[in-house]
Amino acid sequence: MSVVSSVCCYCGTGCGVLIETDAGEITGVRGDPAHPANRGKLCTKGATLHLSAQASGRALYPELRTHRESPRRRVSWDAALDHVAEKFRAVIREHGPDAVAFYISGQLTTEAYYVFNKLAKGLIRTNNVDTNSRLCMSSAVAGYKATLGADAPPGCYDDIDHAGTIFIAGSNTAYAHPILFRRIEAARQANPNLKLIVVDPRRTDTANEADLHLAILPGTDVALYHAMLNVMLWEELIDRDTIAAHTEGWDALRETVRDYTPEKVAPICGVAATDIVQAARWFAAGPTLSLYCQGLNQSSCGLDKNATLINLHLASGQIGKPGAAPLSLTGQPNAMGGREVGGLANLLSAHRDLDNPEHRAEVARLWGVDDVPATPGKTAVEMFDAVKRGEIRAIWIACTNPAQSLPDQNLVHEALQTAECVVLQEAFADTETAPYADVLLPAATWGEQDGTMTNSERCISRVHAAVPPPGEARADWEIVRDFALRLDPAKAARLFLYDSAEVVFNEHRETTRGRDLDITGLSYALLDRAPQQWPFPEGATAGRTRLYADGVYPTASGRAHFHAAPYKPVAEAIDARYPLHLNTGRLRDQWHAMSRTGKVARLFAHADAPVLSMNVRDMELRRLKAGDLVRVKSRRGEAVVAVEASDSLRPGQCFLPMHWGARFMGGLGVNALTLPVFDAVSKQPEFKHAAVQVAKAELPWRMAALAVGDGAKLLDAVQPLLRACDYAAAGLAGRDRDVLTLRLAHTQPLPESLLAALDAALGLDDPLAVMHYQDKPRGISKRVRVDGGKVTAARLTGETAIFDWLRDVIVEGADATPLRAWILAPVTRPPAGGAGRGRVVCNCLNVAEPDIVVAIAAGADLAALQATLKCGTECGSCVPELKRLLSARRAAA
Ligand code: SF4
Repeated sequence: MSVVSSVCCYCGTGCGVLIETDAGEITGVRGDPAHPANRGKLCTKGATLHLSAQASGRALYPELRTHRESPRRRVSWDAALDHVAEKFRAVIREHGPDAVAFYISGQLTTEAYYVFNKLAKGLIRTNNVDTNSRLCMSSAVAGYKATLGADAPPGCYDDIDHAGTIFIAGSNTAYAHPILFRRIEAARQANPNLKLIVVDPRRTDTANEADLHLAILPGTDVALYHAMLNVMLWEELIDRDTIAAHTEGWDALRETVRDYTPEKVAPICGVAATDIVQAARWFAAGPTLSLYCQGLNQSSCGLDKNATLINLHLASGQIGKPGAAPLSLTGQPNAMGGREVGGLANLLSAHRDLDNPEHRAEVARLWGVDDVPATPGKTAVEMFDAVKRGEIRAIWIACTNPAQSLPDQNLVHEALQTAECVVLQEAFADTETAPYADVLLPAATWGEQDGTMTNSERCISRVHAAVPPPGEARADWEIVRDFALRLDPAKAARLFLYDSAEVVFNEHRETTRGRDLDITGLSYALLDRAPQQWPFPEGATAGRTRLYADGVYPTASGRAHFHAAPYKPVAEAIDARYPLHLNTGRLRDQWHAMSRTGKVARLFAHADAPVLSMNVRDMELRRLKAGDLVRVKSRRGEAVVAVEASDSLRPGQCFLPMHWGARFMGGLGVNALTLPVFDAVSKQPEFKHAAVQVAKAELPWRMAALAVGDGAKLLDAVQPLLRACDYAAAGLAGRDRDVLTLRLAHTQPLPESLLAALDAALGLDDPLAVMHYQDKPRGISKRVRVDGGKVTAARLTGETAIFDWLRDVIVEGADATPLRAWILAPVTRPPAGGAGRGRVVCNCLNVAEPDIVVAIAAGADLAALQATLKCGTECGSCVPELKRLLSARRAAA
């Protein structure tokens, strides 16, 4: 066995991992004790990375089709790249370079990002290169630049240990950045005086931990921050010396916030004026570390939200010292690296701006090209709009899944259908975007390629290949280089002289010389010894942990700028037809569009289907009960999901997880509902709010299926059923083997041909191995396959009450003999006490909620739960939920 160090490929915490390999296969993963971000810890997602590496569903060979209607066929790399080069050349010749576009990803290495950017802006001469980081971090970038002058997070994770107040805004850190939340828990244990303020419309597990939870109404953050500044002004909690010496724009901001008294703002935000006052006092007392994420970023005024929060830091002197900083949490593992190389439609290498002629000239000189085009490129939403209009004719998508993740999915699917040529560079062949690919280029992924990534605290880590990529998959940067060499052989031979990721890194490094993120003192050799924070200029012996300690900012005047924007409401107001606020966000055990986590069966144990959370009052108004199927409609589309009551939401609000797309549910997924309105500057769309209506979905026909096998292949097999039904939820269960779970509901029975195809795919068509029960008048049919005395597949039509229980029987590999009567009998209830073991709260140790609830009812506290059931003793990701269950019990007592 050998061990290779690398970085987790999920969230922007950037945890170090040690990848264990045996005979060319990834066999295990553990946290790297030497990595400063996580010090050996991993959350549920990181700890199961090796399982995602072993899963099937990978893109293994280049594939190509010349007609949209034909299936893709396997071709050689030469044939695939020659075809794409010819197609791109033809489009550029006929329609100009802006008729092609690249939509790339915050999951690429910095090196791959750099090469893509140079290909588009340097070789092809289009700025149409944007990334899924636009959906995630561009408002944070805009906020930093508008106030501090550069896209440079001033703080670091160690500030958690020095803070007197931690102000979490728009982030369910306990779910989205669990390892950072572990650090916050540890800091609070070490310092009981450390205050935690959480601003979030929902009472999340993060908010549940807070000393003060400001459950603001959706989108009212700017009003809140202005009101907090108003309090600071009245109570003389501002740092007048810092304001005078190091900022500008104070007078305008002071005039703006004069009207935002806590009393006036309280009804706007839906929080008590006294809570606003308390938040302002704790914030100003400091040292205050703000941690913020998509609640601020994914907004039609995301820049204002970010910048007005930074106002508070500047006005109260909470910046540039230990424990005091506005630290934006990055959603993706390398959104920061992408920004460093300028891999967005409005940026250039090393934090240069496309609209700055000097910056364009500098980059042209560094790249050895005549110039860089001045016309800004199309950003994510604009790009797919332009594809739909036919303005962009060929699009290259790399390492991202726009057919799930962009807002207004109807529009995105139309655009992909319209494009003349869709190239998909992907590790996974089964994403929602894959069916649209005319050319599929198999890419290496986590554990298979070299490079670097930068996390939320400006810390650059080496990413190492632990095993070779499977099949003919290649490293992302290599694919781009090889394409460039075909597209324009003469020029590319000069511009793309790369024979390793290190050569690319060294070129990128040189572009940073003299810039705010200068890394000329770094090398692969140094990074192999330990991750380093930027800036790290030549001659330095260490990176800078905190920025702006001297009060000098990278602006023309050297002063930070206050941002005096007024509060603006959400883009889509609720009304009589769409009366509910819909919020979307992350769950603990899934990540983004599930192309990777959706392959790990145990990651479905915490939440196995998309569920709409609603306040119980809104459910009663609609005569809904938990588990009912509901139709959620916005002005753009609809989704049919189950509903649950949640006391984390106020009346009038509802929440859907962001992860489920058309591969795992019916329709086009959650983003059929979201709107493509974006911030005017950052161009980041408003995922965090849409006006919706919710009504019971009357779908009398029900079916459920279960099957043991290869998860990715079984999910492939059920795709036609997902398309055929109004409601569908497909997923996986199990720990040691994959078990497909499928629930369907529709207005009428599905055609027999579809059911027969499903039976064949699940092995339920073999009369020798399958028990069958049929009650035609009642529309009930059950087929159960037993192999070696164990149930291995089942289809329940018309009556599905035993689904949860039967799933557990299959997952546990229980003996089927005593269960035959229950499985096939015309009963709607499982055996007594057999309702299924329930949701798994502790994924590491496989501890389910009902067992925890029983222990709590018997008097267990957190320590007793950990001692007896062992839950929360491994990665700790479930500890906030255990605490919530404990406090729910206390409240009920
Ligand atoms: Fe990966 Fe979890 Fe660390 Fe994020 S917190 S980098 S998902 S292990």
